[in-house]
Amino acid sequence: MNNAVVTGVSKKFGEVTALHSIDLQIGDGEFVALLGPSGCGKTTLLRLLAGFESPTSGEIWINHERVADGSYRKPPEQRRIGMVFQSFALWPHMTVYENVAFPLRHQQDVPDAYRQNPRERVAKILDMVGLGGMEERYPSQLSGGQKQRVALARAIVFDPSLLLMDEPLSSLDAELRMQMRKEIQHIHRELGTSIVYVTHDQSEALAMADKIVVMRGGKVEQAGTPQEIYYSPQSSFVAKFVGRANFVKGKWSDRETFIMEGQDIPGIRVAHDYSPFYQENVLPVRPDQVKLRAWQDGTEAIRGRVKHVQFQGRELLYSIQVGGEEWEAVCDIRDQFAFGEEVAVELHV
Ligand code: ATP
Repeated sequence: MNNAVVTGVSKKFGEVTALHSIDLQIGDGEFVALLGPSGCGKTTLLRLLAGFESPTSGEIWINHERVADGSYRKPPEQRRIGMVFQSFALWPHMTVYENVAFPLRHQQDVPDAYRQNPRERVAKILDMVGLGGMEERYPSQLSGGQKQRVALARAIVFDPSLLLMDEPLSSLDAELRMQMRKEIQHIHRELGTSIVYVTHDQSEALAMADKIVVMRGGKVEQAGTPQEIYYSPQSSFVAKFVGRANFVKGKWSDRETFIMEGQDIPGIRVAHDYSPFYQENVLPVRPDQVKLRAWQDGTEAIRGRVKHVQFQGRELLYSIQVGGEEWEAVCDIRDQFAFGEEVAVELHV
């Protein structure tokens, strides 16, 4: 069942078309990441879902109710939507308790039990985000990570039907970001609320989302599970933007066989759908799909030479010179090759 449906939504700001006929479905309890470079329309789409903006055309449905079209917009406070922003947006003159309890009074359709016992509800949610007992502090007495937890608590306290998050972790340092990723996943599992999460950080989207919607120039470039997006990118843009990719040059002899340029080797057999790349005469290969072996004369394999090696804990990141191209390969720490060494390169695609 879908919790929110966007059909044919376009948004113009004067001459600028920020969104071109977007279709999107957010399933019940689904965690959807909107991913794309700056200016691709992620925030505009989120603001339309929230009700801060009206679509120029198209329709938005939340919980089986039409909340916006070209001539109608239901206001944000009537949509039962929780929101978390990069800037936290807490009220500095209110305590943690007052900040978190605020929506219980001001949102519509709040369950009666929460309105009648706000103390109990707020305490439960603060426990869930790891801030139990901090009710009486003011935002200025909290760390950045704690402020973001308060913002999260405030967004979920009234049991929203949809939780919208706009780059919620980008103002936190790297370690805290990793920790908060886990907490957001935990809260998502506990509450089962549908989430739309805007980010330009592909690792965040890959790590957390059930579905990734890659946007480009106001359009959906590709939507799918993290695995589909990573292993079956449908365009060079997606292959480059989500994860890293080597673009191997050559020709497709049929749907499953790629003949590499400049190497005297049999065709490479592929296991995924690469149809968008048939015309481009390339095969996108992820660095973790490249395997290296020691070179032996007489081997029928792609011949490469190690140009750089970087130690990365359990893995080694190699740059391999193959003909005129430089490829990246991520290998197990046991597969060690020296700078300048000749290697046989296998592509597991
Ligand atoms: P970022 O990652 O930088 O926040 P984004 O993907 O969220 O980018 P949007 O903020 O949705 O992108 O902007 C999409 C396009 O619409 C951009 O070209 C932007 O300049 C334009 N735009 C957004 N809001 C307005 C506005 N209020 N008036 C005019 N143009 C706008």
